[in-house]
Amino acid sequence: MYLGSIWDECKYKVQKYSIQDIKKLLLSRVREILVDNNRQRETPIGKEELRCVKRSDLVEILAENLPPETIRFGCQIVAVKLDPLSSDPVLQLYDGTFIKAKVVIGSDGANSVVAEFLGLKATKLFSYCAIRGFTNHPTGHGLNNEFIRTNREGILQGRIPVDDKLVCWFIGRQWTPEDSRISKDPKLVKESAVQSIKAFPSEMVELVKNSDIDSVSLVRLRYRTPWDVLLGSFRKGRVTVAGDAMHVMGPFLGQGGSAGLEDAIVLARCLVKEISSVVGVEGCQQRRKLMPETSVLEAALDRYIRERKMRIVRLSTQTYLTGLLLRTSVPLIRFSLLILLFVLFGNSLGHTRYDCGRL
Ligand SMILES: Cc1cc2nc3c(=O)[nH]c(=O)nc-3n(C[C@H](O)[C@H](O)[C@H](O)COP(=O)(O)OP(=O)(O)OC[C@H]3O[C@@H](n4cnc5c(N)ncnc54)[C@H](O)[C@@H]3O)c2cc1C
Repeated sequence: MYLGSIWDECKYKVQKYSIQDIKKLLLSRVREILVDNNRQRETPIGKEELRCVKRSDLVEILAENLPPETIRFGCQIVAVKLDPLSSDPVLQLYDGTFIKAKVVIGSDGANSVVAEFLGLKATKLFSYCAIRGFTNHPTGHGLNNEFIRTNREGILQGRIPVDDKLVCWFIGRQWTPEDSRISKDPKLVKESAVQSIKAFPSEMVELVKNSDIDSVSLVRLRYRTPWDVLLGSFRKGRVTVAGDAMHVMGPFLGQGGSAGLEDAIVLARCLVKEISSVVGVEGCQQRRKLMPETSVLEAALDRYIRERKMRIVRLSTQTYLTGLLLRTSVPLIRFSLLILLFVLFGNSLGHTRYDCGRL
């Protein structure tokens, strides 16, 4: 996962790793192997920091740093409405209860109910799915500190060391109707993963065979098209979206989660800026009359969307083109896509240097 500047915000909060451990987790290069064309491409990691972070570790760190009782579990939203009198957003929950909110930030993922309320177009399905898992080597895996991605006959397999013992792996392959059933049973997912890469080098097959059964999962990939991101209207009243709900993209750049963290930082900053521009000046009572709280919040959400729009349009476009590149082995199409990517984005890791600013 590329974390870029976001990592600075949270790396010192990772209590279970020392700074030495964190340095050890840094990867030194990305290696792409195209077996069919008998070619290899290496991208050394320069100034960028590349490391693999377990999503659950990240979620725990973020949750632990919230004030107590901020999170309320078991609240599945089934619909969002606006109160006809006050225009306050009202969330309807699965258990039949309602929550009246001042502001709603929907970070409910790729099938977002909040995005639907905003009138955003439905996300699209790739014909591809991803199988992922972790393999623990109690005595150490002995692998080089590199991210390897191997492409063979339309199947993509990758592996990234998380630390000295844990390795994260993934497989990208065509989705089949049978996968709906397979995805519900980790044992079947693992069997299907092994079957998909049986023609790959035996060390890769062993890696998957030895993975922790609780860690394996199979998901069909979704994306919001770059043009839907560009044209989408991301605010209605005091309701907006963040993370995958706003900009779900294929995992080809490993940027979706990082972009969601950027959203959170920018949104928090925009809220503080707009609110303090009213509360923090003398004569605030008078300004409050001129500008009600609801308008301040709406202005903050507009500022957030303005700041995020082009960043996520660029990321979605680069991800979309990279996905096309990974899925084709036709030399002319590959060449055209490489040219387009170079013209539009230059350095393939340039997106990791984006600075969303500080909180
Ligand atoms: C194969 C794969 C590999 C990836 N690799 C990387 C990577 O290397 N680096 C990276 O940065 N990103 C990566 N991503 C993307 C990353 O996983 C996502 O961008 C990130 O998880 C999005 O976070 P989110 O919180 O917006 O959405 P989610 O992680 O989908 O979380 C949404 C949450 O909302 C809850 N929810 C959903 N609907 C409702 C509802 N109606 N009511 C209440 N709650 C609801 C869900 O239960 C869930 O907890 C990858 C994705 C895939 C599929």
